[in-house]
Amino acid sequence: MALTSSYFDEGALIGVLTTQPLDRVLDYRAPEGGCHLGAFVEVPLGPRKVLGVVWGPGQGDYDISKVRSVIRVLDAAPMREELMSFLTRAGDYTLTPMPAMLRLATRAPGLGDPPSMRKIYRLGDCAPDRMTDARTRVLDVLREMGGLSLTLKEVAEAAGVTTSVVKGLVKQGAVREEDSPRDMPFPTLDPTYAGKDLTADQSTASATLRAAVATRSYGTTLLKGVTGSGKTEVYLEAVAECLSQGRQALVLLPEIALTAEFLTRVDARFGAKPAEWHSGVTITERRRVWKMTAQGGAQLVVGARSALFLPFRDLGLIVVDEEHDTSYKQEDGVLYNARDMAVLRASICGAQVILASATPSLESWANADAGKYTKLELTSRFGAAVMPDMRAIDMRNEQLPSSSWISPTLQRAVQQRLDNGEQALLFINRRGYAPVTICRACGHQIGCDHCDARMVEHRFLKRLVCHQCGETKPMPNTCPSCEAEDKLAAVGPGVERLAEEAQTLFPDARLAVLSSDMFGSARALKAEIETIASGGADLIIGTQLVAKGHNFPLLTLVGVIDADLGLQGSDLRAAERTFQLMRQVAGRAGRADKPGQALMQTYQPEHPVIRAILSGDEQDFWTAEAGERRAAGVPPYGRLAGIILSSTDVQEVFDLGNALARNDGPLRRVGAQVFGPAPAPIARVRGRHRVRLLVKAPKGTALQPALAEWIKPFRLKGELRMAIDIDPQSFY
Ligand SMILES: [Zn+2]
Ligand SMILES: [Zn+2]
Repeated sequence: MALTSSYFDEGALIGVLTTQPLDRVLDYRAPEGGCHLGAFVEVPLGPRKVLGVVWGPGQGDYDISKVRSVIRVLDAAPMREELMSFLTRAGDYTLTPMPAMLRLATRAPGLGDPPSMRKIYRLGDCAPDRMTDARTRVLDVLREMGGLSLTLKEVAEAAGVTTSVVKGLVKQGAVREEDSPRDMPFPTLDPTYAGKDLTADQSTASATLRAAVATRSYGTTLLKGVTGSGKTEVYLEAVAECLSQGRQALVLLPEIALTAEFLTRVDARFGAKPAEWHSGVTITERRRVWKMTAQGGAQLVVGARSALFLPFRDLGLIVVDEEHDTSYKQEDGVLYNARDMAVLRASICGAQVILASATPSLESWANADAGKYTKLELTSRFGAAVMPDMRAIDMRNEQLPSSSWISPTLQRAVQQRLDNGEQALLFINRRGYAPVTICRACGHQIGCDHCDARMVEHRFLKRLVCHQCGETKPMPNTCPSCEAEDKLAAVGPGVERLAEEAQTLFPDARLAVLSSDMFGSARALKAEIETIASGGADLIIGTQLVAKGHNFPLLTLVGVIDADLGLQGSDLRAAERTFQLMRQVAGRAGRADKPGQALMQTYQPEHPVIRAILSGDEQDFWTAEAGERRAAGVPPYGRLAGIILSSTDVQEVFDLGNALARNDGPLRRVGAQVFGPAPAPIARVRGRHRVRLLVKAPKGTALQPALAEWIKPFRLKGELRMAIDIDPQSFY
């Protein structure tokens, strides 16, 4: 793109990429006053006006007399060539049409609107008629802010008062209310504000990362460290280096629920909070973040994977925290892996990438092993605690009554911790009360009407929920099949049912249940986590949610109810995921000055993955796992792509699948093989029948162009949909 002119005079023929699903860039004429390459514009399309970006010179292959003019240039910084190039290459990699890529980069409504106004508050001149505690706190907050102004919500929150207290002070002239443009820069972060004392290990790692950021060029570092080793402190030093160079930094987190805790840490380190970008952020705030990243008014963005597509002015560092987390793979719409896309964007804009994890993905482990990534390892934990003592409970030797899941051995261990006044955690990776509801009269299992999936009873919500499509219905009293009354029974444990059993076994213990569907908001979840961390519960019952980075300093025992659960799938990553999850969960125990223990209930203690988890020898595990994947020619030692076809008409999907499999010439020419079509593991979701094909190719194959050529002749008519998943992470 370097040869493209960066400015187009009025009337010049330009190509505009729109967010509309068209397969080409459209020709227009530059508007009055001309426009820049990358300018956000409004263009006519038929009778409508649509958003677009000036993508380059026009093609000129369209009837020149019919070419229309750009309506107007929007009030937004033009898209940089770096981002245009990133979108193009990410689109090529994921085989995503460019309009869909542009939609990812423009997820902020009202981009073209003039800046709107909002009320801001600062200290006034008059004293209020009488002082109250609440009023004093408000005035103190505003005094501390100096000349800075805050929104009503910010003042009230900082002072811990209701908004009416602030409004009352406005009436008296003690607080001034003013209009201000809504899209204000974020408060300045000070890289020298409060450096933490680091251990020798951490200092060495942070010096290496700082030096890497100082090169102002691309590089990726795998930062590996067990829970409590201070990974966050270390990578925040790299952020500090990036900020002091005047460049912007992006930190990706796998879970919104972790954001609040992280913002507090940023505030403590840099003296202010960064910009936030995720689905919980309001529309106006999203627009502010979008605009400020483009203008440089946001130095640090903390957010979800889609933050990768923000129009940063000068991005110098991307941190992908918990880089192994499956939530980085977008499984809807554009199928991309944020970890891989972070590396791609950084390589284009000359930024550093830090992949942080206690349990890295095999992909990152292999890249570090091959010398593509630098590897840094933090070993020491704070407070001289080490990884907990890990043991298996062989369930074949335990006497367990039916419909109970806590073995006598685990029960004794929990009781001992409770007697010592310590916390214990029981982990089960299953939401809801019971995974299966069965009729004892006819054997019918209640399934979702729209999917090939059983409905999961959620007693907390008093409903049955389909975990595939989200459909819910009330728990029926009669069997939907044989209409027998009161014969429906719960089979198997979920987190809610485990809590019920625990309460019976430990009647005096204060229980806390942590499952993602039990909290209406991230705020409520954060409050619950803080309560637990400060000792407000004796026994925690949790799902995968507890594995993700929360600190429970009083916790000394982790009991895993079913360590075999993740090993049952046919997924090529089943072993890797189980290994990571078990190590993370076990890592919750024994953080401060008390040694921890992890007990894993299993029916197959001799299974290689279970043995690797117990021995704690990661290198052994990865070497064995890498060997198996290499032999099978699968990622990261081979290439895979999944093709998912779906339709409401089952015949139609199989016909297309068979036609694709028969016409595989373009794939065979590059040495790729196609398998299938076969019904997808979940053969029906939301009423659509699903069929999969799997394409396998040797490492280093230029797979995407071959895939594009392969699918090109096939037109998707009517209800048919095709999704292409490059490097698939899940195989449902
Ligand atoms: Zn029945
Ligand atoms: Zn469903």
